[in-house]
Amino acid sequence: MLTKEISHILIVDSSSVTRELLTRMLMEKLPDVEVVACADGDTAQKLLEEKQFDLITTALLLPDIDGLKLCSAIRQHKSYQFTPVIVVSGDANARLLREGFEAGVTDYFDKSKGYKAFGNFIISFVQRNSGMSGRVLFVEDSATAAHFTKKVLVKNNLEVIHTVSAEEAMTILQTEYESKDPKNRIDIVITDFHLIGDMTGGDLVHAIRARFHYTEQELPVLVLTGSDERDTQIAVFRAGANDFVMKPIVEEVMLARVRALLLIKHQFEALKKQTQTMRWIAATDSLTGVRSKRYLLDNGEAYIKSKSRSPVWGVLIDIDHFKKINDTLGHIKGDHVLSEMGDKLNSSFEDSMVVRFGGEEFCILMPTMQRDHALQRAEALRNDFENLKPAGVDVTVSIGVVSTLEFPDENLSDFLGLADKALYAAKENGRNCVYVHSAEGIVRYQG
Ligand code: GH3
Ligand code: MG
Ligand code: MG
Ligand code: MG
Repeated sequence: MLTKEISHILIVDSSSVTRELLTRMLMEKLPDVEVVACADGDTAQKLLEEKQFDLITTALLLPDIDGLKLCSAIRQHKSYQFTPVIVVSGDANARLLREGFEAGVTDYFDKSKGYKAFGNFIISFVQRNSGMSGRVLFVEDSATAAHFTKKVLVKNNLEVIHTVSAEEAMTILQTEYESKDPKNRIDIVITDFHLIGDMTGGDLVHAIRARFHYTEQELPVLVLTGSDERDTQIAVFRAGANDFVMKPIVEEVMLARVRALLLIKHQFEALKKQTQTMRWIAATDSLTGVRSKRYLLDNGEAYIKSKSRSPVWGVLIDIDHFKKINDTLGHIKGDHVLSEMGDKLNSSFEDSMVVRFGGEEFCILMPTMQRDHALQRAEALRNDFENLKPAGVDVTVSIGVVSTLEFPDENLSDFLGLADKALYAAKENGRNCVYVHSAEGIVRYQG
């Protein structure tokens, strides 16, 4: 069966060298797969009787029979109607393609690419066709149809949640929609069109797209329709179904569609995960683990202007005489110092946006804080760093502070510019201290 996991492969090839090399390569790369090889069509047919194979490859030229004839013979066999057969040949010309199609060839491989390429071709074929996985929400009101289809799905390793009405299916989808638990996730919906209750399968598809806003990649929907219902088929596509399968269901056809849709869904998810990872990488400074400058530039303006965060405090932190640490203890030690300071900032300011602003400068945007509290936190941070000894090194920091309380209209750059002036004053006036840029000017915070 096309949809079953491939665990037994038969190779038919008259060359003993090819057989040996291929067998060895496949057994090494696919340790769970049993590989059997033989030299001619007669032996192949005997082996096919003795054992069930899930994938057959045959050379076009065999000592006793033509490869395509062998393929036709395989297709006549009841238990090999759908088994993939790959023909290995020198030239896949038009005649061969046409006759091969009639004989039921699944795919071709160009012999001239060599046995290694062929081995890789089989390996990726096996991987593409390995077992399905996922949770199916199956909506079918006929008990007999449900029984049959459910059995087929379960046999193919799918987890099935069966309901008889679209209304019930909506309740399940609602629960899934609200739950963040990936264990509750539905991977595909298979629904009959005609259902008990007021909603049809078409209404269900429409609700999935319009109410839950699941795209066709996020939640594929397969609709089961009668073979003579052209209007229904058009309508379900219009409602946002990915595909339909005609009733009475042909097991292989349904499984092929389910497989294709699950593949799309899983690939889409992998892509989404990759995008999230990339975004995280761009938003995070790799040495210190705090937000990157890029992240600040993308989000800082909205952060300081956000009403729900008002008033926001901008805190600029610059390590005192950091160059000396590098010069005396080495750049790598300097890196460790920065890294531990980043950890400290992340753990102390979970409620804030912590950014690596420059080489040895950090910036914190603290939300919804009154003046006393904000200045106490800045002073506490200065004190914490004085005691931290990151990587065993004595460090102090100078801090400049500004607030949207007093400067509500500045853009991000000017706002932080004001904090930078306060920081400069802190450096000028002995370092290891906190200066505030308020409406009256720049003053030292005394605690
Ligand atoms: P000040 O108290 O005036 O701030 O003195 P400073 O030495 O800290 O200031 P300066 O701006 O002259 O030097 C900053 C130093 O920080 C210079 C640079 O080599 C170092 N630095 C910047 N980024 C990194 C980094 O990623 N790793 C290490 N180890 N050093 C860095
Ligand atoms: Mg029905
Ligand atoms: Mg600096
Ligand atoms: Mg410095």
